[in-house]
Amino acid sequence: MVVTRFAPSPTGYLHIGGLRTALFSYLWARRNGGKFYLRIEDTDKKRNSQAAAEAILNAFEWLGLEADGEIVYQSERDDIYAKYIKQLLDEGKAYKCYMSKEELDALRQTQMENKERTMYDGRYRDFDGTPPEGIEPVIRIKAPQTGEIIVHDGVKGDVSFQAEDILDDFVIARADGSPTYNLVVAIDDALMGINEVIRGDDHLSNTPKQIVVYEALGFDVPKFYHVPMIHNAQGKKLSKRDGATDVMAYKDMGYLPEALLNFLVRLGWSHGDQEIFSMDEMKELFDPKDINKSASIYNTEKLDWLNAHYIKNTPNDTLVALLKDFDMKLEEHDKKEILLDALKERAKTLKELANMLVEILDAPTQYDPKASKKAFKSNAIEVLERFANSLEEVQELHLPVDYHHVMEKVVNEMEIGFGKIGNPLRVALLGKMSGPGLDVVMAVLGPDETLARIAKAVLAHAQD
Ligand code: GLU
Repeated sequence: MVVTRFAPSPTGYLHIGGLRTALFSYLWARRNGGKFYLRIEDTDKKRNSQAAAEAILNAFEWLGLEADGEIVYQSERDDIYAKYIKQLLDEGKAYKCYMSKEELDALRQTQMENKERTMYDGRYRDFDGTPPEGIEPVIRIKAPQTGEIIVHDGVKGDVSFQAEDILDDFVIARADGSPTYNLVVAIDDALMGINEVIRGDDHLSNTPKQIVVYEALGFDVPKFYHVPMIHNAQGKKLSKRDGATDVMAYKDMGYLPEALLNFLVRLGWSHGDQEIFSMDEMKELFDPKDINKSASIYNTEKLDWLNAHYIKNTPNDTLVALLKDFDMKLEEHDKKEILLDALKERAKTLKELANMLVEILDAPTQYDPKASKKAFKSNAIEVLERFANSLEEVQELHLPVDYHHVMEKVVNEMEIGFGKIGNPLRVALLGKMSGPGLDVVMAVLGPDETLARIAKAVLAHAQD
């Protein structure tokens, strides 16, 4: 059975890069009918916060990513880590190191002067004398001093690390007894039965250390997939400016979870040249062996394109519910179907959709001067008045086509082109030249509001 996990450190919000590896891990477990666990790595009491852990859970909920079983919090597992630290000490695989901070600094200084790699020199590795007074020891693991450690990586292939280049006897417990990252990750992955680890390649250099821990404790080493980073268009690591913000900020900007997940699955993974993936398809098709070896590029236009696609395909009643978050109350509006059918084809985000709705539902408070100038020349006012009169004569005005017929009638009677009525009417109804079809706008507004807006515009432009 494939067992994966996502193991964020709650130091801030959940960001795009983290979410992507979470998604990969989730999909791979689901594809195999396996398990996907969530572990909050909150051992760093200074940098971690409860609020950040909750933000991660909120984001998971919004996106519909469900973890299996209980969420594991490392901060609740000190006893477990202490037990394994003791085991390593008892078995002679780890030892107490009494080197003072001053000694360590001096060693570093000398190594730097000699242009050597700065590393611990193993001076307490075989120490059996009387410990110096007044120093709380750290605990170091006995790492191999020669030979190589090979990470069999599912993305990068076999990556070999020379023990003497990368390992010293690294600290597994600090002087205050708290365990370090490389120890607890390995213990938890082993105890949780994780056998496939998909994570960012910024962790690749930690992996040999974790392998040392797995081996010292007699645990099986999982399969690793180290996923290349996400870059911006300039080929640099993604920054806040490029959109590497809190995942929940995407919700506020009006992105749909389906769009964001579809966008992320394609960042560094592909299946032929397919771009649109439903959640079911992702679960059916995702395979970490197809993860790209090179960094992927974050592209906002692509995200917008996907979001537009998903908005277009979202049922109207779902959109009505989602738009509530954008202060748009459409439940009671009797023309909401017509309105949404017309607008959801055009919106890249829910926020944009809400703005388009406001622009139609709220009467214009001013008229774009350029548009007015273009629309209200020659006999525009006369045309609008004729249109208003014709509209008043019609009893049944419900659908866009009903209004279209009235426009046609005026155009034919006055022997003018459609633009001669369309332009001033558009300015009268919306205050500007852009927007959806006027027949749709009028059907949504109804005859009374349409006539009121025309009258107001005629008055405003007659004074010019
Ligand atoms: N807690 C680590 C982080 O947030 C991830 C550890 C891992 O995936 O192995 O970067």
